[in-house]
Amino acid sequence: MPIIDETKCPKCQSENIIFVEYAHDHPEHYDGTSEIECLACGARFGRWSGKELGPDEYEKRVRRRKSK
Ligand SMILES: [Zn+2]
Repeated sequence: MPIIDETKCPKCQSENIIFVEYAHDHPEHYDGTSEIECLACGARFGRWSGKELGPDEYEKRVRRRKSK
């Protein structure tokens, strides 16, 4: 499950958000939503990491890791 609330921007709480799926030729292409972009403040968040992404950052594909 994604760790962030997918109904609003974690930064400004706006509900004016869109789900971004990377193109098929994108290095981090994932078959589904990879990031959430807020149209109100322009912030982008990784769907899986929950982190705010910089202009040149992209959400990594989900990689299953063993938990500690
Ligand atoms: Zn926002």
